[in-house]
Amino acid sequence: MSQFTWQRAVIKVGSALIAPDGKACSSQFLLPIAQFIVASRAQGKEVILVSSGSVAAGRGKIGYKHYPSIAEKQAMAAIGQTHMMANWARLFDFDCGQILLTSDDFHNRTRYVNIKNTLRELLRNNALPIVNENDTVVINELKVGDNDNLAAYTALVAQADTLIICSDIDGLYDADPRQNPSAKFIPRVDEIDHKIHQLAGGAGTSVGTGGMRTKIQAAEKCAKSGIQTLIVNGRKPEVFEQLALSKQPGTLFIPSKNRDSARTQWLRHTLRSKGTLVIDDGAQKALINKGASLLPSGITSVLGSFKPGEAVDIRYKDQIIAKGLCLYGNSELAQIKGQRSDKIETILGYSSGEVAVHRDDLVLL
Ligand code: GLU
Repeated sequence: MSQFTWQRAVIKVGSALIAPDGKACSSQFLLPIAQFIVASRAQGKEVILVSSGSVAAGRGKIGYKHYPSIAEKQAMAAIGQTHMMANWARLFDFDCGQILLTSDDFHNRTRYVNIKNTLRELLRNNALPIVNENDTVVINELKVGDNDNLAAYTALVAQADTLIICSDIDGLYDADPRQNPSAKFIPRVDEIDHKIHQLAGGAGTSVGTGGMRTKIQAAEKCAKSGIQTLIVNGRKPEVFEQLALSKQPGTLFIPSKNRDSARTQWLRHTLRSKGTLVIDDGAQKALINKGASLLPSGITSVLGSFKPGEAVDIRYKDQIIAKGLCLYGNSELAQIKGQRSDKIETILGYSSGEVAVHRDDLVLL
């Protein structure tokens, strides 16, 4: 079995594992997953959960016999979400943090930055972020629509290196194993091409290989950003034992570029800088020699007009030495430049974090 290593993973758990009978939450399949999460965190790895199941968990509580209306489904989600969260929370000794998102949140720049900061802060405080779609407020057109794609977006915003999709099937086959007993298992996909989409029931075919279509979409989004995706059977406890031993069960989708180069290229080439931060000697040394984040204290002047989350050049003397995403806008930075980070809240009345540009969001040029 091949080696499988990671440092920050989004683990997506589907409704079939949360509420196997489609009516209420069960911990039947969650225990091995929770044990794997606990063991991984103990090794210093970081985990974000994307958990489905709010609608399925609420169904039994509301008990509609007919096909539910949108409002009824939203009511189920409202009730089920609390059960789903409680079901996870009782398996852990650390805190869980609930994050409910919709498609809009990933497209709106300010909200995107907020999600990213919240995730970072939860991880820093050793909490387990648990993400789901905010099913009570959105109708279909405004939804991401499925938690596989939601998990891919979460992996992107969280700058994870890995997405693990826990499903009720072993991974990808060359035919539907439920209908075709000679279907061959595919342990590794190096490129997500037309053929792979076809296997998963993409355009042109009507049969899905065990609900694979959205999983392949998610794997493709991740691969393009240098994130590996693993699809495993979350019903099998031995899968999580193998994962804990850094072995690879399931189907692994290899990223098309390595994460650093994908991110570096994105920061370096795709993003246009909206302003410039001029820094002092100390900050220049910290950035270059220590791989540190840029603190407001090291900034001597702020040029241009930019909002929180936008890209800025970082200049030392006459040279642009780095580029990064700034947590503060130009007017806020003008007030906190040269100041110690513990003063930020007093000066601005709030704090978006103690650094101006986080190391994860910075490339040296
Ligand atoms: N957000 C939905 C729920 O919690 C699940 C969507 C999905 O399973 O893809 O019920």
